[in-house]
Amino acid sequence: MINLEIPRKHASLIDQAHQLAMNMIRPISRKYDRAEHTYPKELDMLAALIDGVSETGAAGGAGAGGVRRDASDAADNADTGTVRNGTNLASVLSVAEMCWGDTALLLSMPRQGLGNSAIASVATDEQLERYRGTWAAMAITEPGTGSDSANITTTAVKDGDDYVINGEKIYVTSGERADSVVVWATLDKELGRAAIKSFLVRKDNPGLKVERLEHKLGIRASDTAAISLTDCRVPAEDLLGSPEIDTGSGFGGAMATFDNTRPLVAAMAVGCARAALDLTRDLLEQAGVVVDYDRPAQSHAAAAATFLRLEADWEGARLLMMQAAWMADNRKPNSLEASMAKAKAGRVGSDVTLSCVQLCGTLGYSESELLEKWARDSKILDIFEGTQQIQQLIVARRVLGLTSSELK
Ligand SMILES: Cc1cc2nc3c(=O)[nH]c(=O)nc-3n(C[C@H](O)[C@H](O)[C@H](O)COP(=O)(O)OP(=O)(O)OC[C@H]3O[C@@H](n4cnc5c(N)ncnc54)[C@H](O)[C@@H]3O)c2cc1C
Repeated sequence: MINLEIPRKHASLIDQAHQLAMNMIRPISRKYDRAEHTYPKELDMLAALIDGVSETGAAGGAGAGGVRRDASDAADNADTGTVRNGTNLASVLSVAEMCWGDTALLLSMPRQGLGNSAIASVATDEQLERYRGTWAAMAITEPGTGSDSANITTTAVKDGDDYVINGEKIYVTSGERADSVVVWATLDKELGRAAIKSFLVRKDNPGLKVERLEHKLGIRASDTAAISLTDCRVPAEDLLGSPEIDTGSGFGGAMATFDNTRPLVAAMAVGCARAALDLTRDLLEQAGVVVDYDRPAQSHAAAAATFLRLEADWEGARLLMMQAAWMADNRKPNSLEASMAKAKAGRVGSDVTLSCVQLCGTLGYSESELLEKWARDSKILDIFEGTQQIQQLIVARRVLGLTSSELK
């Protein structure tokens, strides 16, 4: 049975992530928000520390690259009838802590890109070993394709021992700084989503070019690149997972990456919103508004009652995030729960951070505090890896038992 207390075995990992967030990430947060497109050099040392934390932690995975469904988990469960709190749960809990420090800096962390999660999700064991140490961005979105990711037009054509990739990718997080990019391309457009495969393309490949960087509302410390792929030749062994096109597998292959990455994005929203709540509670207390958890909301001042409502909403998001990750650890299908977590946390992240700006008034709106920044940063978490509306659509399809062509 699921137990949503934070497992004791993850406590020290989470504590270490929080210490890094408080002492190393938060202090440079504003500096790199202002210096858009400047590489935060402090992250090199931080990434080395995170590698160390991941290697020593019993559960592994202090960052976004830690998600993997270990085959031994299923065997353990079947043999003993027990449940497991594994790398997915450890990853979402530590990513939330790091985003309490700064979401954009977490997204910029070497070797912890969304592409690393994609590799962890679908690569074979041999590929996982071969790509150890790489920093991978993830490129799905194209000028003509966003939410409708099954319609991507980037092609990969087999030619001898290679695939030749052609297409254009936009809004690639860490697309300039990462040393490889996981590129989604179709082997055969006629065969729909089953023919979409992901390829690891190294940044020094002469067929890959970074065309430009975007200027953004939030997560400004994170670089967002447009990339072109022109006759980009990659060895066949860099197709992640199986090259077979299984039209019967439905939401399979590369798309299964989302089951692992959506809980991570939910974790980012949970961490960013927690930061806003913690600071707001302090600022309210300094203004004489005390949040008393032992009294019902209706007996509080309006500001404190609003705060309690925001916290309750936040708690719902956190529990859904944990549920989705726990299901992945226990090798249970979690597409529904991953989308529920992303939908709830994405909305709560924006609601909470913007409401905290409101509650704190001028202090919330000014750059003297980080509240206005968190309100800007959190918005992307309700957009990338599938927007709020798309998550709701997926949840509706799953609950009603309808296919993507039956409910659009
Ligand atoms: C800062 C940033 C970083 C990003 N990083 C990455 C990255 O690393 N890799 C990557 O591949 N992409 C990335 N993206 C792209 C992101 O995933 C897309 O923006 C997102 O998928 C939405 O696609 P779109 O922008 O084309 O909007 P559209 O798909 O055109 O949607 C526009 C609006 O219509 C709504 N909508 C669309 N379809 C439906 C429907 N069927 N029913 C109801 N409403 C619908 C959407 O919810 C949205 O509100 C990033 C984007 C940003 C802004």
